[in-house]
Amino acid sequence: MTPNQALEERVLTDDRPSSEDPVASAAALGAISRPPALDTVDRLANMVVMVLPLTLVGLAAWLSWGGVLHWSDLVALAITYALTGLGITVGFHRLLTHRSFKTSPALRGLFAALGSAAVEGPVIEWVANHRKHHQFSDEPGDPHSPHVDRGSGWRGAVGGLFHAHVGWILGGDALADEQHYAKDLLADPVVRFVDRAFVLWVILGLVFPFGLGVALTGTVVGGLTAMLWGGAVRMFLLHHATFSINSLCHFFGRRTFATGDQSRNLLWLALPTLGEAWHNNHHAFPTSARHGLRWWQLDPSAWLIAVLEHGGLVWDVVHISPERQLAKIAAQR
Ligand SMILES: [Zn+2]
Ligand SMILES: [Zn+2]
Repeated sequence: MTPNQALEERVLTDDRPSSEDPVASAAALGAISRPPALDTVDRLANMVVMVLPLTLVGLAAWLSWGGVLHWSDLVALAITYALTGLGITVGFHRLLTHRSFKTSPALRGLFAALGSAAVEGPVIEWVANHRKHHQFSDEPGDPHSPHVDRGSGWRGAVGGLFHAHVGWILGGDALADEQHYAKDLLADPVVRFVDRAFVLWVILGLVFPFGLGVALTGTVVGGLTAMLWGGAVRMFLLHHATFSINSLCHFFGRRTFATGDQSRNLLWLALPTLGEAWHNNHHAFPTSARHGLRWWQLDPSAWLIAVLEHGGLVWDVVHISPERQLAKIAAQR
């Protein structure tokens, strides 16, 4: 199997091939594309994106302790969290990484722009790294596994979790080559435009809560505090919800499917991650539009896709039948 075929198998179909040796294909991949290293500017930018929201969360907590918290701030937080969060889960992840459904160029652009406003990197870089994660899942080559090269005992566990959560962003050495992992998106003019205009979406993601705050309170101060909550606090919360998929959901929780990696379903994280914490289900059926496969597995991202499908705005939605799920469980016995 060539590296390109291996990638298609892991990311865009539902069964991980048992014959494939991830280490061998990592070596093969290295022969055709060397992983890009982070330069100093990238490292610095990533550090700022990580530390600045944390500092501003401190400011927000201090202000609210002093009584400066308006209901409009929480409205701005809820709306911006939902919009940018769904941009990541429905847009970056289910639509653009795994092709769980199809939609119009306008909606594709909108989802990509909303996800960009989450400030988790430009869309093509995000997709490339996530596809590489699926290809190597907890084997050497995975950009953010908590299990690779971390040693044993509690030190290895803590070090692995830190690497999977934020360490890989600050100094990762297994990042994905966009030319190899996201050729389809590089050839998509809509996604390419959104990718290049990344900074614009980040700024709009701050202007929007400011405008909302001004509209709701009629004051500039109301706009500024809404921007603090709907910008910095939202960014911080959503970042760590997403990062938790990479760290916690490969470490804690239940495994329904024998996926060949350490992916897990983590119930308490389902709502904050808008349904992405059913991560073992997701590794078992990567293209499934639903990650919460059972009725009680809450998955707000899947609810949105269902509503859009009902309205005819998205189509060719990938559904995994209960029979297929049972067949997979039966096959692993
Ligand atoms: Zn994973
Ligand atoms: Zn995925």
